[in-house]
Amino acid sequence: MRKRMIAGNWKMNKTFSEAVVLAEGLARELEGGTGDVDVVVAPPTINLKGVAEVIEKEEAPFALSAQNAYWQESGAYTGETAPNMLEAVGATHCIIGHSERRDYFGETDEDINKKAKALMAHGIVPISCCGESLDIREAGTHVAFVVDQIKKDTAGLEITDPSKYVIAYEPIWAIGTGKTATADDAQEVCGAIRATLVEIFGDETAAGIRILYGGSANPSNIAGFLEKEDVDGALVGGASLKADGFADMVRSAMA
Ligand code: PEP
Repeated sequence: MRKRMIAGNWKMNKTFSEAVVLAEGLARELEGGTGDVDVVVAPPTINLKGVAEVIEKEEAPFALSAQNAYWQESGAYTGETAPNMLEAVGATHCIIGHSERRDYFGETDEDINKKAKALMAHGIVPISCCGESLDIREAGTHVAFVVDQIKKDTAGLEITDPSKYVIAYEPIWAIGTGKTATADDAQEVCGAIRATLVEIFGDETAAGIRILYGGSANPSNIAGFLEKEDVDGALVGGASLKADGFADMVRSAMA
């Protein structure tokens, strides 16, 4: 049985003090607990420690995620952050392969695969993103495109605990645009991802890997996605920047 996950990607938003205020607000909203839903927040790297301190002080029921990491352990990689550095500040999860990183920073599936391996070696759960552009969607090749991303992103991964590897299907045309995929669109691709995971890792492992939907998910539309068989939660961008709305999304997943 897969536990649902609601993850908030704060992207490049919030200064240190603003991030602390948002985390404190979310801790208050969720002080009654999150039931059987895993909740994760991903602030900018420089704010990880501040949010980690809020989580500890408030005993907040959410986990801490980075938005990116490099695959090397240390060295001359200016501007990068190694998995052990994330671990040291209390990050337990890390988003990798977000379409903004692929598009603006040239990340490839090979990079994403190396990042997943490096993170998993440190016990950090990758939240590995995939998804097609509008051109690919309109050409009708979106399922094949995403399946190919999944094969490359997971190549050679050893998944002993399927709850420790998470996939986020995020159609690029729906990210931050206000255009959402329909729940059936999401299920079509998430179902194909699950079938691919069965081919690669076998039934049992594939059945334990969470697949999140992301792309303009919000408190009003999340319930429809969560009804779908292969959608196990959401990766939320814009709507994760308000504690009350994000907490509402968590509550929808608890229902
Ligand atoms: C995201 O960037 O991961 C995302 C899903 O953004 P939004 O919810 O704002 O579309």
